[in-house]
Amino acid sequence: MSNIAVVLDTSAIIRGFELLMRDSLLKNVVGSEKIFLFTAPAVIEEAKYSGTKVKLKLLLSRVTVLNVGKKYLKLAREAASKMGLQQELSDTDLEVLALALELMNRYTKVYVATDDIRLQNVCISVGLDVIAFKRRLRYLLRRRKKCMFCGIEFDNKFEECPNCGSKKFKYIVHKVKIR
Ligand SMILES: [Zn+2]
Repeated sequence: MSNIAVVLDTSAIIRGFELLMRDSLLKNVVGSEKIFLFTAPAVIEEAKYSGTKVKLKLLLSRVTVLNVGKKYLKLAREAASKMGLQQELSDTDLEVLALALELMNRYTKVYVATDDIRLQNVCISVGLDVIAFKRRLRYLLRRRKKCMFCGIEFDNKFEECPNCGSKKFKYIVHKVKIR
């Protein structure tokens, strides 16, 4: 059984409340029983001022707030910079990304739950999956590799095509609607 971490940003806490509070829904999305929810201190500060105090209190019974390591903040800034988005991401966004990067060492799979398109793009570029809650449209963004030789798609974690062994691949991003 794989351990899944989901890192929440402020938009996820505000709009994804229903999904996050219901185990069954979340399990459908990520396809695992063992799901651990995390967020960064800056997100909690933001959420406090968005009129979601009651929700926040409920959510905090399920979400672990973790401080972000400096090393990972640096990696997060570098990832944003590579995408040309270093000016676009807020400090809170960077904390969320940094926390997700740190958790990648400890969990089989890490998702970032955010509606922010810029943050989504940076997450995908470093191999993190994204859960989005935009209004009613919930979707999952997942980056995969596609072999340039035999054409099959395979998981990010493989360095070469599991079918033909070719090391030439391109990245493709799937957008999957969540029921
Ligand atoms: Zn191949």
